[in-house]
This record gives sequence, C-alpha cells and structure tokens, in this order.
Amino acid sequence: MGTGLRPLIAGNWKMNGAGAALEQIARLNTLLEEAGEVAADVLLCPPATLVHRAANLAEGSVIAIGGQDCHAQASGAHTGDISAPMLVDAGARYVILGHSERRTDHGETSAAVRDKAVAALVAGLTPIICVGETQAQRDAGAANQVVAEQIADSMPLYEDASQTIVAYEPVWAIGTGKTATADDIAAMHTHIRDLLVKKYGSAGEQARILYGGSVKPSNAAEILRTPNVNGALVGGASLLADDFFSIIVAA
Ligand code: PEP
Repeated sequence: MGTGLRPLIAGNWKMNGAGAALEQIARLNTLLEEAGEVAADVLLCPPATLVHRAANLAEGSVIAIGGQDCHAQASGAHTGDISAPMLVDAGARYVILGHSERRTDHGETSAAVRDKAVAALVAGLTPIICVGETQAQRDAGAANQVVAEQIADSMPLYEDASQTIVAYEPVWAIGTGKTATADDIAAMHTHIRDLLVKKYGSAGEQARILYGGSVKPSNAAEILRTPNVNGALVGGASLLADDFFSIIVAA
C-alpha cells in the first residue's frame, strides 16, 4: 500500500530568511539542473513575505513553492492572516497546515486545521497536514491513539485523499537532532496508511505520507526507503541548498 508514489521532498523554512535567502533557491535550481532528472517532487515553503518572490524565481523550474499556514476564510477582518486564495495568487501550490509549532504557539486545534485544509483544497492548494505525538504521549504509549485522533479530526472528509498529504512529525524529533528509529517510523507510517484507507477507501493508498523530524543528508536515505514513507518534510536542513539537494538526491 502507498508504494510507487512519487516522493515529495518539502522544505519548511519556518520564520527564517529574508531576501538574501532567495540565493538558496537559485543555487538549488542550479544543482537540480546539473543533476538532470530528479526522482522526487521538490517543494520549498519560505516565510509568507518571500512566497511571491520565491515563486517568481522558481517559475519554470522543478521547484514548487508553498505557504506555511493559511486562514480558513478566503477574506475578511482577520488582521495578520493570509488566505489560501492569496497564497495561490502569490504563486504557491502547496500549504503546510497544523505544524506542531502552530498547534502549540497558536493553539490550533485539529478542527481548525481541517477547516484550513478545506479552504486550501477549494483554492487549489495541496495541503500538507502535520500530525505527531509529543515525547510524553509516546512515553505513555499513546502515540498511535494521538495520531489517529489527529488524522480523524484534521483531515477533511469529502475530498479525494490523493490530493492531500500527511506529514508525520514526532514533536520530540523536530529541531532536536533526534530522529525516530526506522522501525518506529515504519510502524507509525503503516498505522497512518491503515487510517487513511479506513477513512478514504482505496484513495487512501494514493495519499503521500512524509516523515519529518531532524531529517538531514546523513539519515535521509535510510528514512526514505522505509515502508510507507513517501517523502520528507525538512526544517533546518532545507535552509542550505546543498544540504537540501543531498536529501532530494537520497530520494
Ligand atoms: C519541521 O519544521 O517540520 C521539521 C521537521 O524541522 P527539523 O527538520 O529542523 O527537525
């Protein structure tokens, strides 16, 4: 199940990077062009302030640009927020939703993430819906249950699952240098695949499941050959084009 899907290597720049960081996109494009055909879809999600410039720069290349969040409404009195149609207008094709940092920093619930995912799909964006347990939840033996609830409540019901992407990101592995073991990743991704098939039927086999949490050039190959891992969501190691390129090559 879920095999044969084209991997997606997605970079999440978080709140890092001003105009000078666009050089990394130009450098990545050069590396990808020199490499010829790549066996993965490539996505970079810079801060909102860079989405438009990044999309212009990446136009005509294999690099897609995405946002890191969107509002559930298309427009309105929501100071500081950005809607899904605005991201599309700026050149984005994907949007990360429900990242653990947003769930923690902004109190985003799974229901809020689902509403945003619906808005993204309506606008024509591919949502990447993040799920994952904390260290305390894993230690308590609750990881599978936590992720099952997040999948049940964060993912929209009526859309074709092949248009949505799940990112499993154990919270304790994000930005910590710790990665889950290949066995733990395989077990959780197989669990998520089963949940998707229960929820969406055979379309659940077409949804890509990314792993995220301290993915770097040195561990990418092992992670990416784990069953039901259909790509990676990369934070820190996506900031430098050469590191990110090595991860793409590992796919
Ligand atoms: C992330 O931000 O989604 C992430 C996985 O970060 P890092 O790769 O730095 O752990």
